[in-house]
Amino acid sequence: MRKKIIVGNWKMNKTVSQTIEFLNGVSEHLHDDVTFGVGAPFTALAAGVKHAEGLFVAAQNVHFEPSGAFTGEVSVEMLQELGVEWVIVGHSERRTFFNETDATVNKKVKALLNASMTPIVCVGETLQEFEAGRTEEVVRNSVAESLKDLTPEQVASLVIAYEPVWAIGTGKNATQEIAQNTCAIVRDEVRVRFGQAAADAVRIQYGGSVKPDNIKAYMSEPDIDGALIGGASLKIESFLDIVNAVKA
Ligand code: 13P
Repeated sequence: MRKKIIVGNWKMNKTVSQTIEFLNGVSEHLHDDVTFGVGAPFTALAAGVKHAEGLFVAAQNVHFEPSGAFTGEVSVEMLQELGVEWVIVGHSERRTFFNETDATVNKKVKALLNASMTPIVCVGETLQEFEAGRTEEVVRNSVAESLKDLTPEQVASLVIAYEPVWAIGTGKNATQEIAQNTCAIVRDEVRVRFGQAAADAVRIQYGGSVKPDNIKAYMSEPDIDGALIGGASLKIESFLDIVNAVKA
């Protein structure tokens, strides 16, 4: 049985003090029915890890090289020393604004797994691809390339987030049916490449305009194991509405 997983992605939001305020505000309301986490900016990770109770604090990016002349980048070891154990990789905003590709995502995933950290690997089609009926092809390809050369055990241990780009920050969430169908495609691609056991174990999230009033519907679908949540994860109240909505 896969444990459900809800992760907030704060993107470029929250200072150190805002992070501490949020974590202190949510900690006593969390529960064990679901794995909870938030993706904080690099600057807030050290304080975030210290103040986190009942949830993990993830980074939103990492570089795949161990060290070197990569101005502005942060390595796996740097995150590890802070106690960070989870990292979001390949978010569509990183792919769009910072030229990340499935190939660089694959290198990051390998670097994280080698350090026993857990990647949350994001995939998803653009509006243009969606309208052209290319969702399945794009998502299958992205899953295959992002996870290339991993072992079935490694794939079983990570999280994949299906985030259609047209649903991110638009308020236009994918229907429950579209989200389920595409998450099932993601799982099937894992089965084809890595076998049934990996497909049964890997946790797959939906992301894109998830809110307190639609989270339950997504979570009721057989191939959706949780959500990656942007806007609705920023305020304590709406995050806690989601936390309460997913109580068993
Ligand atoms: P929204 O929930 O704001 O649409 O963002 C989704 C997202 O990008 C999470 O990674």
